[in-house]
Amino acid sequence: MDNRTEQLADGVWRVDLAFWVSAYVLANDGHGDAEGLTVVDAGTRGMAPRLVRSIRMLGFDPRAVGDLLLTHWHVDHSGGARRFAESSAAPDVWIGEDDLPVLTGRATPGDVATDCGRLARALHRRAYQAPEPVTDARALPDGHVHEAAGGAHVVATPGHTAGHVALHLPARGVLIAGDLVMNLAGLRTSPDLLNSARSRLPESLARLAALDFEVLAMMHGPPIDRRAKQRLAALAG
Ligand SMILES: [Zn+2]
Repeated sequence: MDNRTEQLADGVWRVDLAFWVSAYVLANDGHGDAEGLTVVDAGTRGMAPRLVRSIRMLGFDPRAVGDLLLTHWHVDHSGGARRFAESSAAPDVWIGEDDLPVLTGRATPGDVATDCGRLARALHRRAYQAPEPVTDARALPDGHVHEAAGGAHVVATPGHTAGHVALHLPARGVLIAGDLVMNLAGLRTSPDLLNSARSRLPESLARLAALDFEVLAMMHGPPIDRRAKQRLAALAG
């Protein structure tokens, strides 16, 4: 099985962890791993070894990963966090403040499904798995600038989950929109059944559409590099 990776900009790579889920690798100095690496999302628990292999395939030492930033608590993004954090890379793990309780194990998916329809609430209570807890994970505040890829700006974008964050890399012209949107059979917002803070989604979409970027990257589906800003703006209405 070949691990697929692609470079989106100087020091910004996308890793296909499965045909439907991505992670991103950011060079802290904008080029290689000399100044350390930052990883965005870790896939499911079973994908953690693949993430490590992919980092090696890019020619980097996985132990250079100092930080793992998570866009939200869903298991296909943060399920691999604990396993990856326990690897020799041993990165610090970060997630949006309102998603921190699920990642640390202090809240269940059912506890946080407060702003959604009845069916979505029932699924959160009965069907949605919580990630393996990362008890020492820390909160990523809105507006924080993480030192990677020329500055990775944390943009709080509640909607898909209450603590969902996007990462804007203005120096590289890239927006990593997390799961607020997906590019599967066209650019769209996440299905409503998966959204646990849905009343806040339109405002978050508008916030992302107002940013400057050339490449719109996300966790599910290929990045968009043509008319990306216009396409997101059209979705935001
Ligand atoms: Zn999700």
